[in-house]
Amino acid sequence: QQKLELIKEAVKSYPDFPVPGVNFKDLFSVLQNPPIFAILNEILVKTAKQIQPAVECVVGLESRGFLLAPLIALELQIPFVPIRKKGKLPGKVKSHKYALEYGQDIVEIQEGAIKPNEKVLIVDDLLATGGTLNAACQLISQVGGNVASCLIVIELLDLKGRDKVSSPISSLIQY
Ligand code: 5GP
Repeated sequence: QQKLELIKEAVKSYPDFPVPGVNFKDLFSVLQNPPIFAILNEILVKTAKQIQPAVECVVGLESRGFLLAPLIALELQIPFVPIRKKGKLPGKVKSHKYALEYGQDIVEIQEGAIKPNEKVLIVDDLLATGGTLNAACQLISQVGGNVASCLIVIELLDLKGRDKVSSPISSLIQY
C-alpha cells in the first residue's frame, strides 16, 4: 500500500555494485530516514505478530538481517538468534555447507540456540537467488527447528529465489 510505497522510494539503488551487472539495493538509505525506518519497523512487527501459530524465535541472517530481526524479537518478547558465516560465532556451533555460483559457503548457528520443534521466523533484508535463505532453512531444520515463515524486506522477482525455499515467504517490496 502507501506505506510500502514510501519504503520502496527510500531504498537507494547502486548500479554495478559490488560487481558489474548487479543493481545493489541499499537498505541503509531506509535506516538513515527515521520516519521511514519507523514505518518499516511497524510493518515488520505487525507482519510477524500475525503469523499463526505464533513464532517462538526470530533468526536474523548475517549481516543486514541483524539490523531488523532483533527489533522484531524485542517487540514480540522472543529470542533473537543469529546465523553467521563460518568461524564468527563462539562456542559450539552447527554448520551447513551450501553451493554458490562459484564454490561453496558455510553458515553456522550456536548449539542449543533453537529448541526442539521451535517455530522460527527467519528475517533478512533481501531475497535474490534464494541460496542464503535456503541454506538458513536447512540449517534450522538440521538443528531440529521448524521454519514457520520467512520475512524479507526486498524481493528481486526475476531471480525466482522463492522457488528454492520450501517454507512460506513474505516480502514487503518487490522489484
Ligand atoms: P541470495 O542468496 O538470495 O542470492 O542473496 C541474498 C543475500 O545476499 C542476502 O543476505 C542479502 O543481504 C545479500 N544481497 C544480495 N543482493 C543484494 C542487494 O542488492 N542488496 C542488499 N542489501 N543485499 C543483497
